[in-house]
Amino acid sequence: LNTMPISDSAIADAIAEELHRQKTQIELIASENIVSPDVMAAQGSVLTNKYAEGYPGKRYYGGCEFVDKVEAIAIDRLKQLFGASFVNVQPHSGAQANQAVFLALLQPGDRIMGMSLAHGGHLTHGSPVTMSGKWFDVVSYEVDAKTHLIDMDNVRQQALETKPKLILAGASAYPRRIDFEGFRAIADEVGAYLMVDMAHYAGLVAGGQYPNPVPHAHVVTSTTHKTLRGPRGGVILTNDEALAKKLNSAVFPGNQGGPLMHVIAAKAVAFGEALKPEFSDYARQVVDNAKALADVLLVGGLGIVSGGTDSHIVLVDLQPKSVTGKAAEIAMERAGLTCNKNAIPNDPQKPFVTSGVRLGTSAGTTRGFRETEFEKIGSLILKVIDALATNPEGDRAVEADVHEEVMALCRTYPLYGAVV
Ligand code: PLP
Repeated sequence: LNTMPISDSAIADAIAEELHRQKTQIELIASENIVSPDVMAAQGSVLTNKYAEGYPGKRYYGGCEFVDKVEAIAIDRLKQLFGASFVNVQPHSGAQANQAVFLALLQPGDRIMGMSLAHGGHLTHGSPVTMSGKWFDVVSYEVDAKTHLIDMDNVRQQALETKPKLILAGASAYPRRIDFEGFRAIADEVGAYLMVDMAHYAGLVAGGQYPNPVPHAHVVTSTTHKTLRGPRGGVILTNDEALAKKLNSAVFPGNQGGPLMHVIAAKAVAFGEALKPEFSDYARQVVDNAKALADVLLVGGLGIVSGGTDSHIVLVDLQPKSVTGKAAEIAMERAGLTCNKNAIPNDPQKPFVTSGVRLGTSAGTTRGFRETEFEKIGSLILKVIDALATNPEGDRAVEADVHEEVMALCRTYPLYGAVV
């Protein structure tokens, strides 16, 4: 790995253990991915030493000549990737990108409308435990009880009745395509801003496998570390010049101090990678793999929310086997398959238990897995869940067998060098 040795042994040892964990388990968490050594090297660079409050050419600190180059490249590449006229690459995270948009466009007490967390939306889209829920008057839309799809007629009706100032489209656990054009039509009809949070789908959009919200939304936010496969961070994009000025002021000085220039360098490297033709192959394979995984799980008797997927996300309904998300997550972890429990629409279980697990194919696809490997992974998941269905404690012998097969896949598709 292209990183410098760390002499602090307590931290170096923990990092070595984490590297071993990543090498020897199969990552199925839909919001995670595996960055290139180049992305990591940029993030681990001397740019961490630099203060650069402001924007390229207009900084509040001296010595910014070279970090200006880095940020300008990141900006250019991001514009090109999504066809946006104005972008901000400084948000430290997806949540902070969203906060900056709220700060730019809203006043406390304004009404916002976003997807319910329990139906796949993100915490920052109006959950009462976040700033979005505490400072704004939140209206939440849900997916259709039968199809598990966003019902655009319902969204329109709700928007007409509640007249939000901002409508938020985008999700953390919605596997299907979102009709961004339809959302814009509704926003225009009620005089609302349309904000799209494409955090989960950004890499698929960049690779041409998911609709691009940029032509339709007033403003788009994203994380850079999910399907887009960059360092942890956020970005904001718009085609509206007047909004762009407000958004820049909302990021700095509104919501953040100095930008993380080392992370911006790593973002630039990742955007460069996403502009290459191979990235479209990756994005296509991510979706094909998710479809293959969903099919195997369906045939094996599990429910799939919405019946399938158009993205990297497979939201599994465990109710047909009377297994909880909590139990499945723990048993799968013992078998070397890492995922997270997740509420399914209208989940009868508490949020800390749930009836579902959310699976994602981006990290596995980066590792080199194709349909054959994901079909295999599907059959391994079924073995673990079927054992849980028979005995709520799970079956250690089955889990050990599955773990062996997981290790075989990990050895065949090594990550950051061979498994030791
Ligand atoms: N928006 C969406 C749709 C997400 O799924 C997430 C993270 O899971 C975020 C925003 C927040 O990103 P971060 O964890 O970088 O703050």
